[in-house]
Amino acid sequence: MTQGLTVLGATGSIGASTLDVVARHPDRYSVFALTAHRAADALLALCLRHAARYAVLSGLPEDQGLRRRFAEAGCRTELLFGAGALEEVAADRECDVLVAAIVGAAGLAPTLAGARAGKRLLLANKEALVMAGPLFMRTVREHGATLLPIDSEHNAVFQCLPRIAARASPDAVRRILLTASGGPFRLTPIERLSQVTPEEACAHPNWVMGRKISVDSATMMNKGLEVIEARWLFDVAPERIEVLVHSQSIIHSLVEFADGSVIAQLSNPDMRVPIAHALGYPERIESGAAPLDLAAIGQLSFERPDRQRFPCLGLAYAALREGGTAPAVLNAANEVAVAAFLEGRLRYTAIPRVIEQALERASATQADGLETVLEADRSARRAAADCVAMLMGKAA
Ligand code: NAD
Ligand code: MG
Repeated sequence: MTQGLTVLGATGSIGASTLDVVARHPDRYSVFALTAHRAADALLALCLRHAARYAVLSGLPEDQGLRRRFAEAGCRTELLFGAGALEEVAADRECDVLVAAIVGAAGLAPTLAGARAGKRLLLANKEALVMAGPLFMRTVREHGATLLPIDSEHNAVFQCLPRIAARASPDAVRRILLTASGGPFRLTPIERLSQVTPEEACAHPNWVMGRKISVDSATMMNKGLEVIEARWLFDVAPERIEVLVHSQSIIHSLVEFADGSVIAQLSNPDMRVPIAHALGYPERIESGAAPLDLAAIGQLSFERPDRQRFPCLGLAYAALREGGTAPAVLNAANEVAVAAFLEGRLRYTAIPRVIEQALERASATQADGLETVLEADRSARRAAADCVAMLMGKAA
């Protein structure tokens, strides 16, 4: 019997890497459902290739014309519309493995639906965990879901420390070291940063990813979000989570134990490695990634992150320390600022200013339920949009 797979965000970069690994193991997996926001043609191509039972276009209303187009292309996939359908295919009885690879806050509700249904949950959508960490982890525990991280750093930590949110002997772990490439602007003169373009920001030296996470990698907000993600996944205090710049992206993260041992996970920078690990766990399966040739790479280097160059990292630690809804505010303001930057409406260096102002304006409340978190998300988006508009007015 194969395991039925639902991929939320199938047309994205993580979706493509996941389906590449899955296609190598037809004896293990069959595709139950694939989702995209509006990219109908890309979704149709995937449904034809992977014979999905269902497909969801979450950002479009019911459209018979599109249904006909799928049928005329010889596609036997049943097409569903609207955001509600994401939760249906995530929680369906025939979905055994849920890959959460939607970008941003939009992924929270369907990912939680999968957790409530007790699925084996492969998490790429870090924003969901950043927004609602305690609620998310409680849902996983109470409904017996199996949470496996596919963000490469967290997958690396999990390979060194194979327990998710289990409190056993917290003193055994001294530190978690999350590695960061430093992104495309690691060496750019700081005074030039206000002029960098979206294309430059998205040209990551080691990884090919969606545009939002590429900008997050340039500002290092990605690492900030990952610090928060690690805090909840591994139940470690924020002061035990550190960031280490490692520009080659070969070591994906490290764990230091009380006895001084440090364990690291290495591979070529290819997301199929952590995805295959999480799909196969506890077994090991082929990922398609090239073997690691350390002699050809020659040297691995490390440095501390430059807090002045990457102010977003400090903002993320501050939101984590503040707790409650502050991480949801941080995440929402970042999404608004990054979208404005990608649309050419905001300077790169204004991204942290928008986030800082949204954090200052928000009153931190306890993040006790989904509605509280979503309300914090909505009001932070409004505050951030106001701030973007104000900064645009000044620039004009
Ligand atoms: P992407 O932009 O390439 O793909 C995003 C996917 O989400 C697409 O299928 C898109 O149709 C869908 N989507 C976008 N907006 C949506 C909405 N409002 N509602 C429903 N679906 C929506 O992004 P990506 O690079 O694949 O990243 C996906 C997630 O994985 C992000 O949370 C990112 O941080 C995380 N992640 C990505 C990488 C990587 O290498 N790309 C690595 C680690 C973690
Ligand atoms: Mg990562």
